[in-house]
Amino acid sequence: MIKIITTIHEAVETINHIKKLGLSVGFVPTMGYFHDGHIELMKRSIKECGETFVSIFVNPIQFSPGEDLARYPRDLERDTAMAASAGVKYLFCPEVSEMYPEGFQTRISAGPLASNFCGASRPGHFDGVCTVVAKLFNIITPDRAYFGMKDYQQLVVIEKMAEDLNMKVKIIRCETVREKDGLAMSSRNSYLSPEERKAAPALKSAIEKLKEEIIAAGGSKFKDFNIEKAVERQKAFLTAGGFKGVDYLKVASADTLKEAKNAGELSSMAGVFIAAAAFIGKTRLIDNAVFGLDKKTVNAHE
Ligand code: AMP
Repeated sequence: MIKIITTIHEAVETINHIKKLGLSVGFVPTMGYFHDGHIELMKRSIKECGETFVSIFVNPIQFSPGEDLARYPRDLERDTAMAASAGVKYLFCPEVSEMYPEGFQTRISAGPLASNFCGASRPGHFDGVCTVVAKLFNIITPDRAYFGMKDYQQLVVIEKMAEDLNMKVKIIRCETVREKDGLAMSSRNSYLSPEERKAAPALKSAIEKLKEEIIAAGGSKFKDFNIEKAVERQKAFLTAGGFKGVDYLKVASADTLKEAKNAGELSSMAGVFIAAAAFIGKTRLIDNAVFGLDKKTVNAHE
């Protein structure tokens, strides 16, 4: 039986009871409208923890005016059934007024890791994400919390928040779950028309092609490799493939998220993060690749 909890009071009481039994608590925060990406996070938590809490909360303070807060897909009945069949026993679904009662005013300010990529396009987004995640961590007091690599910048920002604020929770990274044609699963994919859905996997293809070029260039120590041109080629591929515009396509360090503006900066990085956000119709999709540069290959010609 799955239990739907809507108040903070009941969530805390339930957690207290679980902890008295000596069980560890796993937590999967979400905005709902589940797909297999969410379900994988839940299954992993269930496997690794004594009890698992999943939250569904479409967090208004992480949306900018003019974004899709009002039309963000919601279906609690469907979500409840999916979570129950994955084995989840506790769903925490608070109302906005429960999380942000009148007079609520505090914000967590995410640092420089939040300044580029989605943070640049969506001002205040990561402050809103950090604030709600910190609140949820304080309510649920999880031992482990599961986040998807699909939102890699978010994951790194949350890892840093947990470290900087001495939060006791362990943040667990989970691989991006994809559709058969490569499209990263996302609740926002439900916005796509059939034609847009057909074109959408080009985002993953563009990232993969850029990744292959970088790995190949690494093989010859990035001699004559021009990042800017390689990025421009993939942006052109996206717009030719039906994307209306590319918000960003950038190459950065997977650790510091510092952008690599040239081959020299790229060659000093152990891990690479290719980050992309692009518009297809009215829908903004994001995706990424995180990979290591094989230093053995890079140095093979020395
Ligand atoms: P959301 O409901 O979109 O806010 O996502 C809730 C959690 O699920 C976040 O940690 C996301 O990174 C994760 N997530 C979303 N899509 C995927 C995916 N395709 N694969 C793995 N994790 C995902």
